[in-house]
Amino acid sequence: MSLIGQSFEQLEETLVADGLSRAHGLPLFKALHQDLESAPEERESLSPPLRRWLRNRGGAPGCAPRLSEETASEDGWTRKYLLELKGQTEVEVVLMGFPGRFTACISTQEGCAMGCVFCATGQMGFRRHLSVEEIVAQVHYVEREVRRRHDDRIRNIVLMGMGEPLHNFEGSIHALEILTDTRGLNIGPQRVTISTVGHVPGILRLARHPKRYNLVVSLHGSTDEERQAIVPVNRKWPLGEVLEACREYGSLKKQRIFFAWTLIEGVNDSMAHARRLAELLEGLDAHVNLIPLNPTDQFSGEQPGQEGVAAFQKELRKAGLPSTVRQRRGIDVAAGCGQLRSRASCSG
Ligand code: SF4
Repeated sequence: MSLIGQSFEQLEETLVADGLSRAHGLPLFKALHQDLESAPEERESLSPPLRRWLRNRGGAPGCAPRLSEETASEDGWTRKYLLELKGQTEVEVVLMGFPGRFTACISTQEGCAMGCVFCATGQMGFRRHLSVEEIVAQVHYVEREVRRRHDDRIRNIVLMGMGEPLHNFEGSIHALEILTDTRGLNIGPQRVTISTVGHVPGILRLARHPKRYNLVVSLHGSTDEERQAIVPVNRKWPLGEVLEACREYGSLKKQRIFFAWTLIEGVNDSMAHARRLAELLEGLDAHVNLIPLNPTDQFSGEQPGQEGVAAFQKELRKAGLPSTVRQRRGIDVAAGCGQLRSRASCSG
């Protein structure tokens, strides 16, 4: 396993197994994840035996993403990077700037098996899970960008890029362990958001995980029939099971759950939908993120106008359900929710 894909404890074990002292673990972990040195083996502050060991391994980083394409939104606040990982896989990563904070939207799979009809990643199908190092390397890439361009750092990470993070549970959660480690990049778990389409086993597993990350569960439909038409994986994990898993999550974690609702005109944007949604979430500490549909090539649905979105939100408010309309970011460069895909799939 490459060094950046190893937790602090694993890194120590690797050093010990190669005859080095455990004490080298901290400076090396810091060099890899805090300083983000591309060649720590050249770094004077690391001890000579550690540098020698790194050189003998052929250097440290393991997975250095190569930039294939970069696009910036007109307002300059959103940048999308198409990164080549290990010379074979391309994934998209989005950097969103907000006043005073930067958020990295990271991919966990190449493609996605869930097949949500409005989503460009779902439309390209599933190719493979990304490894821990490939997920960590995306964050490192964007962190270097934020330091270089803005002399700042990433505050938030959202696993909302390509893929269903809980389908790649091991890869996603292990990567987050590394990224939230206080000895490394030190992104607070409360600043990490995992977005799922309703992967029931993953939600239940996450409920028993010691860290408290934010959880966003995508619903998009208020009955099984309706949801199935938008989110095909509802056949496997129907609405009732998803909500039951959420209730278990809520009671174990004592934590608010966010629910994503992509608003599609004439499909799920009526007042009756809003009322049914409020009924479904009754008793849960819930907050709804409303996302007016973003355009993709292979889905002809439209987003409701501003008035429709406001009316839906008002109906939720009447039912006592808090909600936020997600800020539309990077739509002009196809960096919005549901718009990410690899270049290979676009040309294919
Ligand atoms: S919305 Fe998320 S879960 Fe659904 S297909 Fe797209 S990437 Fe996969």
